[in-house]
Amino acid sequence: MIQTYHNYDLSAMNTMALNSCADTAIVVHDEAALPSIRPTGRWFVLAGGSNVLLPSVLNATVILPRMLGKHILSENDDEILLEVKAGENWHDLVSHCALQGWYGIENLALIPGLAGAAPVQNIGAYGVQLEDVLVCVKVYDWENSQFLTLSREECQFSYRHSIFKEQPNRYLITAITLRLHKTATRIQSNYGDLHNQALTLATAAGRDDIHAIDIYHAVIAIRQSKLPDPAILPNCGSFFQNPIISHGQFQQLICQYPTMPHYPINDALVKLPAGWLIEQAGLKGGGITPILTHTKQALVLTNHAPQSATQHDIAITQNHIIVSVQQKFGITLVREPVWVNADGSYQ
Ligand SMILES: Cc1cc2nc3c(=O)[nH]c(=O)nc-3n(C[C@H](O)[C@H](O)[C@H](O)COP(=O)(O)OP(=O)(O)OC[C@H]3O[C@@H](n4cnc5c(N)ncnc54)[C@H](O)[C@@H]3O)c2cc1C
Repeated sequence: MIQTYHNYDLSAMNTMALNSCADTAIVVHDEAALPSIRPTGRWFVLAGGSNVLLPSVLNATVILPRMLGKHILSENDDEILLEVKAGENWHDLVSHCALQGWYGIENLALIPGLAGAAPVQNIGAYGVQLEDVLVCVKVYDWENSQFLTLSREECQFSYRHSIFKEQPNRYLITAITLRLHKTATRIQSNYGDLHNQALTLATAAGRDDIHAIDIYHAVIAIRQSKLPDPAILPNCGSFFQNPIISHGQFQQLICQYPTMPHYPINDALVKLPAGWLIEQAGLKGGGITPILTHTKQALVLTNHAPQSATQHDIAITQNHIIVSVQQKFGITLVREPVWVNADGSYQ
């Protein structure tokens, strides 16, 4: 089933709370209806709106995948294959799995958005990325008008990237399949203070080993202590990707900034925390009104004029930060959220 609307207000449908209205919106409740949708002109898929920067006027058709349901495809003593429809809320899914004692996505708790959007930027947090548990993705291929199943390899995942970013507007993700584990063999807790916090929770529950539910609660507590809730202070999470630089450039910077946090990727590449770079550029809590970096986490841009600020306001603060960090460190930050143009194209 589908529902079609005109002059559709999207201001409450993006976590940055940008003022936005679309020509046409099509809400899809059943993927079987997809072949019958033939949007005239450009179209754009909007899920939970937590990783997009929308224009005031969107002269395009917005497609809202809202297919619901999850079911176990197969199960044995060790693992479970779970298929989840695109419209399921991601955090609710994580909660469900952690409560069931299924390991794999507990580190990805409290990431806003819908399950179908998770493969697009290969969501990641606290040492885990979606690709670690993803088996395959069901899609509707608009180019060839057919339903397909893409394997994890075909999704071409890398850091905050996938084929869905490479080939925008080609695929609509209808469902994802995850491989989850029933034992804690693959628990990932060596990220910052996560292990200690999870162990404290396990001990309080009378256990000496960490379960998925402990990681889940620890991640929620850590995130709530430093990230603003979009429902209270609109934002779209990390605004910039953590830059990956050459070892040579890193050697020069670490001489100048000996306390600079860094994460070696391999012998040739080092990842730096973008939030630290922004903070060192003197922009923690700064920016240009109404778009300011968060006082506890400079990587998050917050909107202090919900429902009236526009993309233009975002661009001003974004460019100010990029120039400041470039001047201080010689590093060009790259935006993480998707910038949607008025004609529905995006980058
Ligand atoms: C407070 C906060 C914290 C965050 N923390 C993290 C984090 O820790 N790690 C992380 O990786 N991200 C994080 N994010 C970013 C965001 O939540 C994720 O990228 C999320 O997966 C986006 O889901 P969404 O449903 O909101 O997608 P949307 O923002 O609606 O869409 C994002 C992109 O995916 C495309 N898309 C969405 N659904 C489909 C579909 N079914 N088929 C094809 N294309 C589709 C859209 O066209 C768009 O290009 C955070 C955001 C916020 C606001």
